[in-house]
Amino acid sequence: MTLDQQLKHTGTLVNYYFVCKRKLWLFAHQINFETESDTVALGRLLSEISYDRQKKEIKIDEMISIDWIDFRNKVIHEVKKSDKLEEAHLWQVKYYLYFLESKGVQGFRAEINYPKFHKRELIELIDSDREYLKEVIKEIEEILPRDEIPEKVRIPACRSCSYFEFCWV
Ligand code: SF4
Repeated sequence: MTLDQQLKHTGTLVNYYFVCKRKLWLFAHQINFETESDTVALGRLLSEISYDRQKKEIKIDEMISIDWIDFRNKVIHEVKKSDKLEEAHLWQVKYYLYFLESKGVQGFRAEINYPKFHKRELIELIDSDREYLKEVIKEIEEILPRDEIPEKVRIPACRSCSYFEFCWV
């Protein structure tokens, strides 16, 4: 499989891979309740109002969507509503850096902004990350074509998941 084929996976898929394999599968099969989720709506609202002087929502090849880019300092920004760095956030933005590198855009770092808590986390992509992301993408490739929905597993993320009612009610 070529890198271009691998990169059809969006940052969202990489994020969901780290949250829950079932969520990843449901989303990839267009079983999608995201627009009805208050949590998602809050995240979108925060993204829209918190950095309104910056250029936002830069879509690249319809594969990734970066909240805004500081071209002068070569930093991509991702806005999140929670107050702590989660593994899914971390790998989503590392994937963005990996994707940009595949397009010949080198030397960028990432910053995750938590406007609700006035916090930020700086992220860099290192060689071991690149190798790990290749494995992650390979595993996503294996999960998505399966006929069966992955088993539900009760985790803290279920409480704010847009599939909560589908899985647990
Ligand atoms: S509710 Fe829980 S088990 Fe169901 S998709 Fe969401 S995170 Fe996964």
